[in-house]
Amino acid sequence: MNETSKIISQARLEGRKALLETEAKTICMEYAIPVTKFKLAKIESEAAEFAEELGFPVVLKIVSPDIIHKSDAGGVMVNLKSNVEVQDAYRKILENAKKYKATAKIAGVLVQEMAPQSTEVIIGAIKDTQFGQTLMFGLGGIFVELLKDVTFRVAPITREDAHEMVTEVKAYPLLKGYRNTPPADIDAIINILLSTSKLIMDYPEIKELDLNPIMAYADGAKTVDARIILE
Ligand code: ADP
Ligand code: MG
Repeated sequence: MNETSKIISQARLEGRKALLETEAKTICMEYAIPVTKFKLAKIESEAAEFAEELGFPVVLKIVSPDIIHKSDAGGVMVNLKSNVEVQDAYRKILENAKKYKATAKIAGVLVQEMAPQSTEVIIGAIKDTQFGQTLMFGLGGIFVELLKDVTFRVAPITREDAHEMVTEVKAYPLLKGYRNTPPADIDAIINILLSTSKLIMDYPEIKELDLNPIMAYADGAKTVDARIILE
């Protein structure tokens, strides 16, 4: 059995609908969707060890089946530059998680490479009651949240569809390059859309998927956070 099937059956077995970030990103990797490198630490000394391995700066995040929106729980700390900062962040994140939800089960703390800031895009999927698996694309932050500048296609999509999705949002000129921002690698974004389309068609039990944000670079792209919810 492949990784994706294993992860989904394991979640089912445990009665979980929301996959952990580690699980969602492992699935992404199987579908050639680029993600930040990560390792799950279970004790404080491991967090520092993994940070050294990945190289500073790193990001630490809570991994809990009971905490879906990690920042809301004080569960994300970015730009940690030394062993001491990593160890402090490790303790702080666990403390915050306890405060947020005393009964939260904790799988560990994820240590991950810090992706350089860039133009952020979002790729999402929802299972529509009428149309079935549907893909969403937009630029991150205010473009999606405030301006609702997003576009949808029913899956599966072709490369032409993916190209249309990326170029038809109003914020597209930002991806084409703007003042000091170099043009983003549009093909890399199109490839993630196509991989996501394949993933949700292969696994119709995926009810929601959220790659938010994806950093779009001049060469390539990197998914910083991934969420998958099962039916
Ligand atoms: P959640 O959406 O569950 O609150 P995220 O994993 O999206 O948590 O983290 C919150 C924010 O922290 C992200 O939107 C991003 O701006 C930043 N961030 C998270 N992980 C990284 C990373 N590996 N590299 C750079 N920035 C990150
Ligand atoms: Mg997020």
